[in-house]
Amino acid sequence: MKTMRVVQVTKPGGPLELVERETPEPGPGSVRIKVQACGICHSDSLTKEGIWPGILYPRVPGHEVAGIIDAVGAGVAGWAAGQRVGVGWHGGHCGYCDSCRRGDFVTCQIALQIPGITYDGGYAEFMIAPASALALIPAELSAVDAAPLMCAGITTFNSLRNSGARPGDTVAVYGLGGLGHLAVQFAAKMGFRTVAIARGRDKEPLAAKLGAHHYIDSQAQDAAAELNKLGGARVIIATVTSGKAMSAVVGGLGVNGKLIVIGAAEDPLEVNGLLLIMGRRSIVGWPAGMSIDSQDTLSFSVLTGVRPMTEVFPLERAAEAYEHMMSGKVRFRVVLKTEG
Ligand SMILES: [Zn+2]
Ligand SMILES: [Zn+2]
Repeated sequence: MKTMRVVQVTKPGGPLELVERETPEPGPGSVRIKVQACGICHSDSLTKEGIWPGILYPRVPGHEVAGIIDAVGAGVAGWAAGQRVGVGWHGGHCGYCDSCRRGDFVTCQIALQIPGITYDGGYAEFMIAPASALALIPAELSAVDAAPLMCAGITTFNSLRNSGARPGDTVAVYGLGGLGHLAVQFAAKMGFRTVAIARGRDKEPLAAKLGAHHYIDSQAQDAAAELNKLGGARVIIATVTSGKAMSAVVGGLGVNGKLIVIGAAEDPLEVNGLLLIMGRRSIVGWPAGMSIDSQDTLSFSVLTGVRPMTEVFPLERAAEAYEHMMSGKVRFRVVLKTEG
């Protein structure tokens, strides 16, 4: 019997435990991936703490996976052993619901599959994934760099490119953490006048290095007023986890401006209806994207030199790495490296 090491959670709120398991075989339509790296996302707490309804335990978290196809199941076309692939939040779909029939797989209504939630994810030496969830990793990207692009990367890249903002428009990125440090790079490389908003002055040099043209210190300055001095934002990407903080910047949107929520806030947003009406302003959310969007994210990152800033831990230190991510002290994305 071939075995592998995985890091699993056995019950909601339980610890992350390193265990040996039998290495699974890929079923029809699926591949087995030899995991090389897996990013730790704040959403892994949905599995760790049992916040997502209906999780079957034990469960292996992880939806920022980069590795190599190691075995291919029956009926898989277009993928072969040896290819470098990534798997992100969108880990498969039913193929027959109304959303899927419209090609909008990420909003699948019947059987949206999420690695680490609906099936075992990437805190492991091997994992099984449907072929429909795979993104090809370009040779220029290391596994450690590719992994965070599979959730933090695609979510910022894909929300920006579908935001309606055009080159030269003012785009603000609120928050400069795991999501925000990528959003600033993508926004600048897409040709937007890029404004980074974060707490304190200490992150200003980093924001400039990532490509931001302007910096607003949300502690010392009124971010909405500062954005209005720049003519108002066409788009604000909100990566912070406070609804109250998000509410405070809505007034910085220009005409037709859009607040795009990608940080999962625990408290509600409050907004003045008249402000939305008078300038045709809007507030929307954005869920990652499909496997081909992930692949586009990876390609664009190679093309333009966008890279995540990471702190790397070996798989066996997953529990410590997770706590480090949850502490908010990480600069800027934690990645588990599964092999030397
Ligand atoms: Zn994620
Ligand atoms: Zn579906």
